[in-house]
Amino acid sequence: MEKNTSYREPLASVIAELNSSPEGLTNKSAANLLQRYGLNQLVDAHKKSLWSFVFAQFNDVMIIILLAAAFISGLIGELVDSIAILVIVTINAIMGASQSYRANRAIESLKQLSTPDVLVYRDNHLTKLNASQLVPGDVLELEAGNLIAADLRLMEEDELETDESALTGESTPVNKDPLYTSEHEQIVSERQNMLFSGSLVTRGRGKAIVVGTGMNTELGKIATLLKETEDDDTPLQKRLQKFGKYLAFAVLIICFLVFIAGLLQGQEIILMLLTSISLAVAAIPEALPAVIAISLALGARKLLKLNALVRNLPAVETLGSVTFICTDKTGTLTENRMTVDAYVVDGKRQQITVADSPLFFEILALSNDVMQGQGSVIGDPTEVALYADAMSKGVNKFTQEQQTPRLAAIPFDSDRKRMSTFHQYSDGIVMMCKGAIESVLERCEFALENGQKVPLDTQHYLSLAECLAEDGYRVIALATKRIDALPSSLDEKTNECGLSLIGMVGLIDPLRAEVKQAVEDAVNAGIVPIMITGDHPVTAKAIANKLNWIDGDTKVVDGHSLQKMSKEEFQQQIKDTRVYARVSPKQKLQIVEALQLQDEFVAMTGDGVNDAPALQKADIGVAMGQKGTDVARNASDMVLLDDNFATIVGAIKTGRRVFDNIRKFIKDTMSSNSGEIWTLFLAPFMGLPIPLLPIHILWINLVTDGLPGLAFSAEPAEPDVMKRPPRSPKESVFAHGMWQHIVWVGLFVAFVSLGAMIWALETGHENWQTIIFTVLTISQLFHSVA
Ligand code: ATP
Repeated sequence: MEKNTSYREPLASVIAELNSSPEGLTNKSAANLLQRYGLNQLVDAHKKSLWSFVFAQFNDVMIIILLAAAFISGLIGELVDSIAILVIVTINAIMGASQSYRANRAIESLKQLSTPDVLVYRDNHLTKLNASQLVPGDVLELEAGNLIAADLRLMEEDELETDESALTGESTPVNKDPLYTSEHEQIVSERQNMLFSGSLVTRGRGKAIVVGTGMNTELGKIATLLKETEDDDTPLQKRLQKFGKYLAFAVLIICFLVFIAGLLQGQEIILMLLTSISLAVAAIPEALPAVIAISLALGARKLLKLNALVRNLPAVETLGSVTFICTDKTGTLTENRMTVDAYVVDGKRQQITVADSPLFFEILALSNDVMQGQGSVIGDPTEVALYADAMSKGVNKFTQEQQTPRLAAIPFDSDRKRMSTFHQYSDGIVMMCKGAIESVLERCEFALENGQKVPLDTQHYLSLAECLAEDGYRVIALATKRIDALPSSLDEKTNECGLSLIGMVGLIDPLRAEVKQAVEDAVNAGIVPIMITGDHPVTAKAIANKLNWIDGDTKVVDGHSLQKMSKEEFQQQIKDTRVYARVSPKQKLQIVEALQLQDEFVAMTGDGVNDAPALQKADIGVAMGQKGTDVARNASDMVLLDDNFATIVGAIKTGRRVFDNIRKFIKDTMSSNSGEIWTLFLAPFMGLPIPLLPIHILWINLVTDGLPGLAFSAEPAEPDVMKRPPRSPKESVFAHGMWQHIVWVGLFVAFVSLGAMIWALETGHENWQTIIFTVLTISQLFHSVA
């Protein structure tokens, strides 16, 4: 079947041509189709081979200087030296290439882990599957936050909108319509009954059938044309590359000066050429780029073991600089195992049964987007908890829906903090609304109390909700309205008004056991944790107090007061506020920006579609692996596979350790090189012969740089790693006296080595060069170990 014409055919014939059905494929036919079509993934046109890594090693100023050294050695008749330099440079390049290749493979496999899961009907059951397993004919359920993983023909939808900017460059959300048909050829952005791989569901829900996978999608067609925009180098790598260039330049100047000085002293030209070459070889830290690449890749692997999946390599290095962690509450600080534990009906908190208020439990059962998975109910944790309560009382959504089918919905989003569904009852349509207490109350005019519709006493219900919130409950209000016919427009303003409040539920969610300790660890490490929740301020405060979030009474700033604050006021209080409640995703972005204006380095968690801008803006955007949406994950630098706050603190510790180890390596290798430079530089001025030839220096570097480098990348964390304040991201790697250390250790090593050389020469040892080689190597290794 021609994939790109399915938008022009009637839905029924699309399904028939795919040998599928509205209930999807069987596992058996899906397995056969997978064999035929292959995995649903794009072939990476930019995949790098091992050879390209080897060539990349030679494309480096430092290596080019070494090759020039080999060439000059050859020219002046030192053929053995020349060949030896070439061999060692090649060994180094192969070692470097294989390290970089390994690092790249590790990163690629991390990327693979980021492929989303999808909800697919197989054998008549809704099943969670990795998107790579999709085949043409599969039927999918989609909801806001999903990344669309194949080209799909839409079957049904509720207010579905998608962002197709990955394909069309146009980021305004696009409405979709399953009934849309076209006789004519259309461009991608006009095909309203199609959903395209690489786009995002930004609102609503839908059901769709796969018509194209992998390279057979519209995205696949342009994938080979897409330029590789990713820049894999981290800030540190970039800075060191720049440093390498300066170093190479400085080395050339020093070599030239030494060469001229020697000639003026009357030394032989060949001798001085060899000295200069040796100096060049000594100064260049050949192993540096490879050691850093492998340290970062190993760091990312270690983070994965801790349940933190790094999507963006620079995050490994910059994690150690985090000064503020802005975190969600539900699922991150709590276990996200919500249960209904309290009810408010007839104007008071009490225990109730279905007989007391059937409508109350029908709202819990019907007004949600949960779906029946294999053996369990799938959906948003709040909704799953509400439905579980209805089910435990004998109200089953799926049997009830046969009598009172859902006609339409106004979906939930974190800005409105409520959702509504419309159901066909025998005597008319019932609109059911549920959401955050203030958000529902502002749309209610009445309350249903003891079977009577009475005017709403807003204050009374607000204070009842506050009592529940003080005990740490998440409060959801339920309301309804009867209407005669389904409105033509599902606009929230005209529909969600004049409601009758039916009651409220209180959901309890246990705190995660390890969070209290993690908060303490973060504070000891100079990191400020901030809670940013969409929940009620009183609930937020209750949870913060239980976690010792701050000493004494917690001040909570809520979204409303935040909105009223001027920019200056906001800037003033930003550093003292530890808890924000009822915030909208836009305000999350505002908080990140305000902190960054004060030079803070911010990690921000997020899970919803609207959290993406805040995650992108944060220095480290952290998405949730379990409850998060694909949209949030796509915008993040790191995904928490267990959604746990403690994992962020653990990841910061690993980030600090990785950076420490890179610094240790740089300090070690530069001190070693400095020892060699001083030895070679001072010898002619002390009237001594050239202490070592280029080949000796290269050997020393091979032993004293590369191998200890690998050992450094596996060093355990220093005991004080989480007791010191965060490192400024702008700070130079050479800060904290590293330069001075490099210079004095270098001088010290040079004096010891030259001392040994003078002694050997004066006592007439023939093997004086072996002695200086050994002394220099051992003193460098001694420094590495010390
Ligand atoms: P946090 O994770 O930080 O606790 P949140 O991200 O869960 O907060 P939102 O999802 O924005 O916050 O929810 C805000 C409020 O909206 C909740 O406190 C709750 O009262 C209400 N709410 C949450 N989910 C739903 C839903 N599915 N239907 C109706 N109302 C909901």
